[in-house]
Amino acid sequence: MTEEKIYDCIIIGAGPGGLQAAIYLGRYNRDALLIDRGGGRTQHAKHIENFLTQKAISGAEIIQKGIEQARSFNVKVERGTVTKVIKKNQFEVYTGEKRYLSKFVIVSSGVYDHLPQIENLYKFLGTSFFTCIDCDGYRTTNKKLVIIGNSLKSVHLAVAMREMFTKDITLVLYSDKLPAEYREELAEENIRLIIGRPVKILGAEVIEGLELEDGQKVECEVIMSHFGYKLNDGFLSEFNLKRDRKGFKFIVNNSYESSMNGLYIVGPLNQGNDQVVIAAGEGAVAAIDIKKRLLEL
Ligand SMILES: Cc1cc2nc3c(=O)[nH]c(=O)nc-3n(C[C@H](O)[C@H](O)[C@H](O)COP(=O)(O)OP(=O)(O)OC[C@H]3O[C@@H](n4cnc5c(N)ncnc54)[C@H](O)[C@@H]3O)c2cc1C
Repeated sequence: MTEEKIYDCIIIGAGPGGLQAAIYLGRYNRDALLIDRGGGRTQHAKHIENFLTQKAISGAEIIQKGIEQARSFNVKVERGTVTKVIKKNQFEVYTGEKRYLSKFVIVSSGVYDHLPQIENLYKFLGTSFFTCIDCDGYRTTNKKLVIIGNSLKSVHLAVAMREMFTKDITLVLYSDKLPAEYREELAEENIRLIIGRPVKILGAEVIEGLELEDGQKVECEVIMSHFGYKLNDGFLSEFNLKRDRKGFKFIVNNSYESSMNGLYIVGPLNQGNDQVVIAAGEGAVAAIDIKKRLLEL
């Protein structure tokens, strides 16, 4: 099934990046279609307090208000999962059987966190189980913190957390292959080290501790994990887009256009920082660039 209309721009993903782009394009009176499958990462952010003018707001509220705002400027918002994007004379965006056409595409489909398999994790995710120092480091200030990880990056995270937020840190590492100098650094910083595999978060209303596979219980009030994420980019597999040296993040120019002419990529899919305000700013920059190019057309 093909909708014959050629949109000026199709935006994939209604997170802060896609919604901000949609609002700009709507206010240029451009034909914009926003396709979103729902349940993105911003929805997990229950308490955002680093967004200008918002002392505290939930990610869900940002998304809901953003969709209402985009619709008020005549952006069409559709629920659907984009499965494929190709380019012929124009872009063709597929959601299963349905095909949509557009002159430009903004990809703002975000990323998917690798989370450890621990009982009760989702009960506390976003309130006292955190995954990002920039987002929630502040909320661990002076609290009893456990950091869970499986790489040397977790040691750096623990040292940074101690410097800025709390002196009471236990690092639980899955693997004991930790070089001696790292163990020494942790000891110097008074960061407790436990090698083990967490299985359950303890506590009914608030976190009271973390239980490990061997039965050991580590007392804590907040937990931070560090296992990275994967990109929501499967639908871009038809393109051979340029990525960074690790073959992971997409390379974009100053307007967030990828190596494919007319295809923009905003938010944590590119090499920028993973923050609501940054994804939104990138969405605005991409939309302004597309405005100029539509005028040239
Ligand atoms: C627990 C948690 C707490 C956080 N706290 C903060 C904070 O306090 N401050 C802060 O600045 N940042 C915070 N972040 C980070 C913030 O959520 C991200 O920076 C932000 O989500 C990036 O926005 P985005 O628009 O790129 O992607 P997202 O918000 O992830 O939105 C992407 C959207 O695209 C949709 N999508 C994906 N694939 C497809 C597809 N194939 N077809 C259609 N739709 C698709 C998804 O369902 C989703 O709706 C937090 C993240 C988490 C997980």
